[in-house]
Amino acid sequence: MNPVEKHAGKLFILSGPSGAGKGTICKALLAETDLELSVSMTTRNPRAGETEGESYYFVSKEEFLRKIDASGFLEYAEVYGNFYGTPKQPVIDKLSAGTDVILEIDMQGALKVKENYPDGVFIFILPPSMSELRKRLTGRGTETAEAIEMRLGETLKELSYIDKYDYCVVNGQLEEAVARVKAIVTAEHSRVTFTAEELISRYKEEA
Ligand code: ADP
Ligand code: 5GP
Repeated sequence: MNPVEKHAGKLFILSGPSGAGKGTICKALLAETDLELSVSMTTRNPRAGETEGESYYFVSKEEFLRKIDASGFLEYAEVYGNFYGTPKQPVIDKLSAGTDVILEIDMQGALKVKENYPDGVFIFILPPSMSELRKRLTGRGTETAEAIEMRLGETLKELSYIDKYDYCVVNGQLEEAVARVKAIVTAEHSRVTFTAEELISRYKEEA
């Protein structure tokens, strides 16, 4: 018997500036933990190497708007000129099955999730510096120079919402950042989420 076992999974929300390394950290977490990623839906075009249903569900704007009308999103937002959203049902199903879920979403989306799901754990991934962020976005080679400038311009605005988050992790050295996020997941599973009465009755049942 585990007297503090909880049956519902936990929702972890990872956000932060574009290029800070959210995707890279998520990939490592998926490989090293039991966390499951929520696959978002987007109206942006796939990049080279991205796979339908793994990276994103790539849909038309019409299909995205239909899903909004059907209340099919936990949250959605327009980010850098495209729509992105978290399909609601798969997240609810995973959490009820006891699986931890990770959302890798922008700051606007994170704030909407916080309104509806305050029990979520909100983690902000920071780049070590603006110059390193520029270097990473340029090095990734997936955006035009103009798109990179737009993403860098948004960064300082995004930083102003840091106080809405529970944790921030600077992604300097990748392994250290991943270890810190894993430590947060472990710590969150050690929270006191039950009353004294519940705890005592569980120990009594077993005695
Ligand atoms: P995001 O998902 O936040 O937009 P990515 O995960 O795509 O960012 O990372 C942006 C770029 O920076 C990628 O080319 C990635 O390989 C690189 N990168 C990520 N983390 C690190 C790190 N700790 N050190 C150096 N480069 C990194
Ligand atoms: P990218 O186009 O680089 O894959 O993602 C651009 C931004 O959209 C990133 O900040 C990413 O976290 C965010 N994003 C991805 N999926 C979602 C989502 O489902 N909802 C919201 N709000 N943002 C998302």
